[in-house]
Amino acid sequence: MPTVHGIHHVTVISGDAQENLDFYAGVLGLRLVKRTVNQDAPDTYHLFYADAEGTPGTDLTFFPWPRMAPARLGVGLSVEVAFSVAPASLPWWQERLAQHGVQVEPPTTRFGETVLPLADPHGLRLALVATDAPIATIPWERSPVPAEHQLRGMHSVRLWEHNLAATADFLAAKLGFTPAGSEDGWHRYAVDGGGAGKWVDVQELPEERRGAWGTGGIHHVAWCVADTPEEMAVRAAVASAGLQPTPQIDRFWFKSVYFREPGGVLFELATDGPGFGVDEDKATLGEQLILPPWLEPRRAEIEAGLPPLRMPV
Ligand code: ZN
Repeated sequence: MPTVHGIHHVTVISGDAQENLDFYAGVLGLRLVKRTVNQDAPDTYHLFYADAEGTPGTDLTFFPWPRMAPARLGVGLSVEVAFSVAPASLPWWQERLAQHGVQVEPPTTRFGETVLPLADPHGLRLALVATDAPIATIPWERSPVPAEHQLRGMHSVRLWEHNLAATADFLAAKLGFTPAGSEDGWHRYAVDGGGAGKWVDVQELPEERRGAWGTGGIHHVAWCVADTPEEMAVRAAVASAGLQPTPQIDRFWFKSVYFREPGGVLFELATDGPGFGVDEDKATLGEQLILPPWLEPRRAEIEAGLPPLRMPV
């Protein structure tokens, strides 16, 4: 059975683009690996943050829509994204985040791991999870965060659902997830045997209202597939569940299929390649505005309509 292989990226709606850049590059120390526009709304940025090379599974992306209302948390949304850090780094992060005035909750334990929940400047719920899983990420040498403390890719995402069984059955039957335990009302599912980047946690909230997109809210969660044949096989499985996946869309750095899972969360399938180096030099990723070819003729107009961005020092 074709399956997904873990988190590819998570895309979020943010507030002001400069505040977003200052937090993710300046405080969390991620690399801005792609500076482009929303292909469906080219008057707004699409900013991609990741490890040094934009490795799938490290990538958090943002549509800055500062005029949008804040997200309304509720069912049918992903409500948190967690990153892995080395266990010895957690106290270091507590101190750094406090120094930068970041809203941090006390450390807690989830499924045997120590977790530091926090919120970004626009209300997105994040968490840092202490895990000594092998490092699959490439440190960014110009990050303000020392290599040993840098984020090590995504650990998990959390979903709120009206009906647990509908989503759990779909995750198992069509995407290849298996149950991996329950704790405090959260049900964990693993793909490819689980581990950092291969978890999704689901909480059933039958009385909760439906969530709505807005600033600080997760727009979609993308899952890795190796290549187009695997993507099309998983797409067929999704369609066989009565869902409505889009055709494959070429995002240049990967190829995508979108659909809503049975509970309403927007999911994407994304191929591992070709990656962010396909249209700019890896040494200078993120420094220039990259446009898809059909928007190049409108570059001057598009650039004039975007707020200037200053890299944090
Ligand atoms: Zn996406």
